[in-house]
Amino acid sequence: MEECIFCRIARGEMDADILYSDDKVVAFRDINPQAPVHFLVVPRKHMVSALDLAPDDSDILYNIFDVIRSLSETEGIARSGMRILTNVGEGAGQVVMHMHFHVLGGRNMLWPPG
Ligand code: 5GP
Ligand code: ZN
Repeated sequence: MEECIFCRIARGEMDADILYSDDKVVAFRDINPQAPVHFLVVPRKHMVSALDLAPDDSDILYNIFDVIRSLSETEGIARSGMRILTNVGEGAGQVVMHMHFHVLGGRNMLWPPG
């Protein structure tokens, strides 16, 4: 997936404000933040969306949510609340075709989302 920007960020080939990185998961600030805190958590393994998760990927999902919990604490949004979301498909607004979880916080979140 040479051309995938999130694979390139995970490999260190593209600049990003990295918040966390290990052998399975990378987290970095969104380049166009929609809230005072807005970061993305991605698996190093390329997959297009959550619909592509396989039974063997359950550890990836656990690791992603463990990183989200930890970063939400250091970013100061664990108590105030956050929105965790993953867009699936163009109709839902997915632009980058590498599964990622948005974490947004630091302001009141509206429901329903647009
Ligand atoms: P999607 O719309 O696919 O769910 O979300 C993609 C997100 O990636 C958007 O919020 C967008 O601002 C962010 N993004 C796109 N390109 C880059 C980039 O090169 N670097 C970073 N840090 N974020 C990006
Ligand atoms: Zn990728």
